[in-house]
Amino acid sequence: AKECGKNTFQFYAGDMNAHALERLSLESALRRGLAQNELELWYQPKVDLASGELCGAEALIRWRHPQRGLVPPDEFIPIAEDSSLIIAIGEWVLHTACRQLRRWRDADLRAGRIAVNVSGRQFKYGGIVETVRQTLQTHGLPSECLELEVTESVAMDEGEAMTGVLRQLQQLGVYLSIDDFGTGYSSLSYLKRLPVHGLKIDRSFIMDLHKDSDDVAITRAIISIAHSLGLDLVAEGVERPEQRDFLVAHGCQSGQGYFYSRPMPAEAFEQLLRHRRLA
Ligand code: C2E
Ligand code: CA
Ligand code: CA
Ligand code: CA
Repeated sequence: AKECGKNTFQFYAGDMNAHALERLSLESALRRGLAQNELELWYQPKVDLASGELCGAEALIRWRHPQRGLVPPDEFIPIAEDSSLIIAIGEWVLHTACRQLRRWRDADLRAGRIAVNVSGRQFKYGGIVETVRQTLQTHGLPSECLELEVTESVAMDEGEAMTGVLRQLQQLGVYLSIDDFGTGYSSLSYLKRLPVHGLKIDRSFIMDLHKDSDDVAITRAIISIAHSLGLDLVAEGVERPEQRDFLVAHGCQSGQGYFYSRPMPAEAFEQLLRHRRLA
């Protein structure tokens, strides 16, 4: 609705292009999907690159839409992020990951640390610190077993307010990592002051590591930054043995990617937990 004059409102449906309408209907479908349990968390193993041993997982959201089938997050998370819906979804993700981890721990399955992705809006308006504290408490989990991944652009953008929230989370004892590292515009002095534990090297640098000398240089630089700042490292998108070999040789401890495993439903990840070694 658009305001025109004092007490008159006119609806400019004609102004809306098809794209905007599509987003609007997707948003309401998503809202309904959340309420009707159509969202799922899948898990992708994180692996110690040198030994091939499983050390945790990243939880990745999927939407099992009754007509569209399995919808990947890139098709609906950006829409959720444009509204407060991302806060409700983010709470669902935290709750679901923690409840799952509780079950695995009760079954004596060592899942390691479970990472969830957190959007900027959750940090800004979502009361993230209190939500995380309560969720851990509800499921009786120690804070070290939960990792929060926040993208580089979010971590760097929000300035002092962001640092404060990250510091509170750090005090709570959850593990914090910067996602998609290398794609934003980090100032190194700022990075040094951010209370985070680890960096995830973005997949775009790992992808052509075996054949692109620029990517080799960037990846080596990121590894050396992490080492000098005392940060842990995870490489995303490891698909080939050459990439793993390079990363191991240059001192990157952990990775995830199709070389080890694609993201999988909770039941499949549970089967994996019974074997543990991936490659
Ligand atoms: P991300 O956090 O960077 O997650 C990694 C993405 O790379 C995942 O895509 C994963 O399936 C994919 N991937 C992992 N290994 C490989 C590989 O070896 N090769 C290739 N080509 N791809 C690989 P996915 O699951 O489609 O998620 C896409 C993005 O959606 C995520 O990127 C994240 O930004 C967002 N997302 C996923 N789940 C959540 C969530 O629960 N909350 C929020 N806020 N965002 C989420
Ligand atoms: Ca991530
Ligand atoms: Ca990432
Ligand atoms: Ca990425």
